[in-house]
Amino acid sequence: MEKQIFTKELAAKLLPVRNPDGHKGDFGRVSITGGSVGFTGAPVLAAYGAARSGSGLVFLGVPEPVYPIVAGHCLEVMPSPLPAARGKISKDAFFPILERLNSCDAGLLGPGLGRSQELPKLISKILEETETPLILDADGLYAIKDRKDVLRKRAEKGLLTILTPHEGEFHYLGGELAAGRETAALDFAKEYGCILVLKGPGTVTALPDGSCYVNPTGNNGMAKGGSGDVLGGMILGLLGQLVAAHKNDGKYTGNSIRTEAIEQAQKESSFLKETGRMTALAVYLHGLAGDLARTELGEYGMLPSDLTARIPAAILELQ
Ligand code: AMP
Ligand code: MG
Repeated sequence: MEKQIFTKELAAKLLPVRNPDGHKGDFGRVSITGGSVGFTGAPVLAAYGAARSGSGLVFLGVPEPVYPIVAGHCLEVMPSPLPAARGKISKDAFFPILERLNSCDAGLLGPGLGRSQELPKLISKILEETETPLILDADGLYAIKDRKDVLRKRAEKGLLTILTPHEGEFHYLGGELAAGRETAALDFAKEYGCILVLKGPGTVTALPDGSCYVNPTGNNGMAKGGSGDVLGGMILGLLGQLVAAHKNDGKYTGNSIRTEAIEQAQKESSFLKETGRMTALAVYLHGLAGDLARTELGEYGMLPSDLTARIPAAILELQ
């Protein structure tokens, strides 16, 4: 096992350099799919987690009945309504979600998605059909718990998937915690060819190549509904920037061959390493934003939206 504590020095080194002449397309187009009746905050927290982490463009697809509520909380991120049944995204949302993902640099499926009979098939079909790098969180994880073979299939095609379970979610995904958090996360990452972020105090980011990072930031003021949604958005925001940088590295220009660029990048093993580090950087910054919120507000009263508000200060600490 190749284990590394993710230090501030490492975090500062990995922060993506922003091109002074860059436009919004250069900093990643990202897509979030989530929300349901009763869970309108989660996709908004995720969207602002991405936007505050430097994303150029953030799209947010939510079921049509909650669209007006979600849109009322969106200024800088772009919500759109998706076909719904009983307050949740329905199978008719497949093509709109796929189309959006295919035009984006990275996608996040899950925040506030809810659970329904239709969702496992819908989510696993999306995982099979899109080549866009994906993050699965919350009910997005629940949706694939009996369909984990789609993770292996994506890995075999050289496609990137990041899973962000807390221990409860890890358990229903079939993860074995008895061997310890680090070994458990690494075993899962290796078995399914994905990056596995096992959340909680000392979040572990495990890569399929046998390496892992342990995070030193964060505190129990973050143990509140919504904190994980912010993290999903932050990983998405940094991943989108990494992917956009690959697409714009000079070898490829123009939209029609953008997909070829990322296909190639995903096949290179260095891309997996880079993605793992970027994921661990998001985890570090998320915890640091939490530590800044605790200093100002205390661990009782601080909220996940206070984390999104402190992402800029957390990033500034590394600059
Ligand atoms: P979720 O359970 O999906 O909302 O995610 C909670 C987030 O808060 C994860 O990123 C956890 O790592 C973080 N978190 C929760 N409790 C603690 C704690 N006691 N110390 C550090 N981080 C925590
Ligand atoms: Mg969560």
